[in-house]
Amino acid sequence: MHHFAYRDDELYCEEVPVAHIADQVGTPFYLYSHATITRHYHVFDGAFNGLEHLTCFSVKSNSNIAVLRALAREGAGADIVSGGELLRALRAGIPADKIVFSGVGKTPADIELALQSDIFMFNVESLQELQVLSRIAGTKGKTASIAVRINPDIAADTHPYIATGMGENKFGIPMRDALHVYKIADELKHIELSGISCHIGSQLTDIHPFTKALESLQKIFRELREMGMEIRNLNLGGGLGITYDEENPPHPNEYARALKEIIEGDSITLILEPGRVIIGNAGILVTRALYTKSTSNKRFIIVDAAMNDLIRPALYNSFHAVQPVKRTLSGMIKADLVGPVCETGDFFARDRTMPPFEPGDLVALMSAGAYGFSMASNYNSRPRPAEVMVKGGQFSIIREREIPEELLKGESVPAFL
Ligand SMILES: *Cc1c(COP(=O)(O)O)cnc(C)c1O
Repeated sequence: MHHFAYRDDELYCEEVPVAHIADQVGTPFYLYSHATITRHYHVFDGAFNGLEHLTCFSVKSNSNIAVLRALAREGAGADIVSGGELLRALRAGIPADKIVFSGVGKTPADIELALQSDIFMFNVESLQELQVLSRIAGTKGKTASIAVRINPDIAADTHPYIATGMGENKFGIPMRDALHVYKIADELKHIELSGISCHIGSQLTDIHPFTKALESLQKIFRELREMGMEIRNLNLGGGLGITYDEENPPHPNEYARALKEIIEGDSITLILEPGRVIIGNAGILVTRALYTKSTSNKRFIIVDAAMNDLIRPALYNSFHAVQPVKRTLSGMIKADLVGPVCETGDFFARDRTMPPFEPGDLVALMSAGAYGFSMASNYNSRPRPAEVMVKGGQFSIIREREIPEELLKGESVPAFL
């Protein structure tokens, strides 16, 4: 459930008309509902009540520090994949001891920063990374707390670009090598074994890949304990899907119940890294129609947002519902909703039935809170859009729209020109 709804044919975010914000801020902009963010967090986190657990929001899904602050205030930790995300999480007030660090290519600089900040845990994804981590921790006089990220070789029914737990993917360490890596880690003086982790993919709408992954982790977890290793944390990653169109993902309660059934009785702390399920439906992208045109067999509605603002349709062929901000237009047409970027892949919807938008009309692209702004770029030298948060009857710009001048920052013409 989210707080974007019509009142008298006008789209509101909580208590604020979306058109009012567009008038003040200009378009395009991302719009987040505070009540939706906190509600989703509590529904998810609350589903695990009765089990020792930590919910670490996946910062890569939305890294705006106001979003992170809203979650920090509710008690969330963070799952980060870079030094930049660490900076954001700390700036937002997420305690270092609730931050876990994932990623196959952590740089020495990122590792140093994370050690300096005394984060909770590194999810280690290769033997070489383990060795680098151990060496850097040694030179800093620190001990790095780690989980080995396992690749459980589980097929997840999602877009191939966001399936991460199959044997052919670059993530984690194969199951058969796990014990070997733990034995090596156990001998390293500056490494403390803390847990085991995995993350099998994103936008999963079936519960079985999760339960299979958890069973695989549990098996290794028990073997490690029998070998005398004192690990406590079991991290199942993120990946729970949301409804963009007609998907029917499990409710967090169902997800939690299935996981609890498996690990009940093991004395463990469960770590979860949800991103999309918290923020996906808590944000929309608001854009304005610029032009319309027809070819012999197509109608196009050209809007002022583009693939640089929201790349998911171009990258994953993903679906975002297209809704009018004011329901004043009658009749529906079949059209392509496209942006100004010079790529045929620059579309938001193709051959979709939608209102006959005219120049100046506001259009809402729904479910754009996750992997929306965080994947935005400056392609075509387009400034990235503003981000706005609503709480009740108030709204605030949480990131200014970029201006073209800013895009030139750091560039210079060499003396030989
Ligand atoms: C991307 C990612 C997540 C979050 O995935 P969602 O599908 O947004 O929940 C969690 N953990 C890791 C390691 C990730 O790479």
